[in-house]
Amino acid sequence: MLHPLIADPSATRQILRHFKLRAVKGLGQNFLIDAEIVRRIVEAAEISAGDEVLEIGPGIGTLTQGLLEAGAHVTAVELDKKLPAVLRETLAGYENFRLIEGDILKVDVAALMPRPFKVAANLPYYITTQILLTLLEKNLPVTKIVTMVQREVAARMTASAGSKIYGALSVAVQLRSSAKVAFEVPPEKFLPLPEVTSAVVVCDVRRPPFEVDEEFFSRVVRASFAQRRKTLLNSLTAAGFPREKILSSGIDCTRRAETLSLQEFAQLANALR
Ligand code: SAM
Repeated sequence: MLHPLIADPSATRQILRHFKLRAVKGLGQNFLIDAEIVRRIVEAAEISAGDEVLEIGPGIGTLTQGLLEAGAHVTAVELDKKLPAVLRETLAGYENFRLIEGDILKVDVAALMPRPFKVAANLPYYITTQILLTLLEKNLPVTKIVTMVQREVAARMTASAGSKIYGALSVAVQLRSSAKVAFEVPPEKFLPLPEVTSAVVVCDVRRPPFEVDEEFFSRVVRASFAQRRKTLLNSLTAAGFPREKILSSGIDCTRRAETLSLQEFAQLANALR
C-alpha cells in the first residue's frame, strides 16, 4: 500500500484542516513538516526492520511514518484525545503500529515495552526533562534514545563539568548514556513555528560506568544543584545530609556542584550513604 507523505507543509495543513484541528500550544504541539528531518532522525536512531520503538507524542503521524517505513514496530503514546482519529487515517494500513492513548508520564512503560527498545520522539518541550528522567531512571530495557529537544536543553544534556549549564540533567543523562547532539533544526521545519531552535540528541544508553545506588546518587546530585551558587557543604547540609559525612567524603566541599565530575559525584554519594 502506498501512503501519502505526511512530512510536508501542505499535507500537514490539509490534515489539520480536514480534521478541524489547531495545534494545541499547551501540549507542545509543533508538527514536523520536513521529510529530510524525519529521514535524519530515523537514520540517527539506526532503525532496522523489526526494531521495537517507543514514540512519545506521534501527533498526526509525521515521524511515526518514517519509523514505520523503515520497518520498526512502533508503539506510540499520545495524550491529545483528538489525535487517535487522525492517526487511524494517516497511518491506516501500517500493521507495525500500535497506539496507546495516555500520558507518557503515567503509562507503565516497563509493561508496554518489555523487550529491548529504542525511543524516537519529537518531544513536547514543556515536559522534556521529566520524560528523559523517566526513561533513564527506571531501569527500562531501552538501548537508544533519539529525541528532538530545545537547543538549550540539548546543550544541558551534553554539557561537561565546569560549564555554566552543567547541572542535574547533564549528570542524569551522562550517568546512563553517552549523549551527543546529532544536528540542529531551525523553527521553519515545524508548523506552527516554535519560538526556539531545536536539536536532535542521540543517547546511547548503557549501565553507569561505576558502582552506585542510582536512586541515592540522584538525590545527592539534585540536592547539590538545588542552589547552584552555594558550596556543596551548604547545599547538602540544607538538604539534611550529615555535615561530618560531607566533610569526610574526600571531596573538597567548598566547591560548587557544577565543578564535580560524574566520578566525583559517585564518590560523594558513596561516602554519604
Ligand atoms: N511527533 C509529531 C511530529 O513530530 O510532528 C508531534 C510532535 S509535538 C512536538 C509533541 C506531541 O506530544 C504532540 O502530539 C502532543 O499532543 C504530544 N504530547 C504532549 N504531552 C504529552 C504527554 N504527556 N504524553 C504523550 N504525548 C504528549
